[in-house]
Amino acid sequence: MPHGTFDPSDFRRRGLRLYVQADDALQKDIRAGGHSTTCSAGCAACCYVFISATFGEATIVADRVLSKRARTDVEALLLQLDEDRAILDSRLPDGGYLSLRRPCSFLTDVSASGSWSGRCSVYEDRPFVCRMHFVTSDPSYCAPDHSEHPTHRIGHSAAFREQIVGRITSNGDPFFAQIGPLSVFVAIALRWLRDGSPPSLLDLEYWRKRNDRWARADRERDHAALKLRQR
Ligand code: SF4
Ligand code: SF4
Repeated sequence: MPHGTFDPSDFRRRGLRLYVQADDALQKDIRAGGHSTTCSAGCAACCYVFISATFGEATIVADRVLSKRARTDVEALLLQLDEDRAILDSRLPDGGYLSLRRPCSFLTDVSASGSWSGRCSVYEDRPFVCRMHFVTSDPSYCAPDHSEHPTHRIGHSAAFREQIVGRITSNGDPFFAQIGPLSVFVAIALRWLRDGSPPSLLDLEYWRKRNDRWARADRERDHAALKLRQR
């Protein structure tokens, strides 16, 4: 497990510097390509999909949640995250994660009317997969109710993502590079940073395998429904 001298705030600061560089590069790329994105604050159908992240990225989110700036009820959040863990550990629904209509645990101001809206409570510290997701199509096409309309997505290539995320997790610790469901990994990181409960590599690997199944199913659906435009 990460050793005793690990400083989560320092790890987070370093990660945020890399995120900002990636954000700038993507915005520059979007402008250079003459694209205009249709994403806006409060629009959040993309926050109802299955989100995976490295344990390093989840540690950044957990440190944010425990920081003085965050006004989060940590116990209530852990309950939600554990509920997500139980869902993800059970049989996968045929319609995929979206069919659960379950907002990401970090989404706040969720509309009860089912309009796929909300705001990210960890926006500055959100994982890379959320930072690279933009569309140029009508926002309503992102909701599953409009799955007959393909969305036009813009984002960094998987290679660029690996490069940035790899640098975030490049302190030589195998824990941080493990990929798994964001909700499950943040719960593990929260209990580690708050209570000192050490993460187990076996547990992270178990979730990496579960994550592969979910991510593969989502990718197959994506490729069938979306027209991807990537640099
Ligand atoms: S990707 Fe779609 S749902 Fe997400 S913010 Fe952009 S337009 Fe809205
Ligand atoms: S972390 Fe934030 S941006 Fe990412 S899915 Fe959750 S609420 Fe949306």
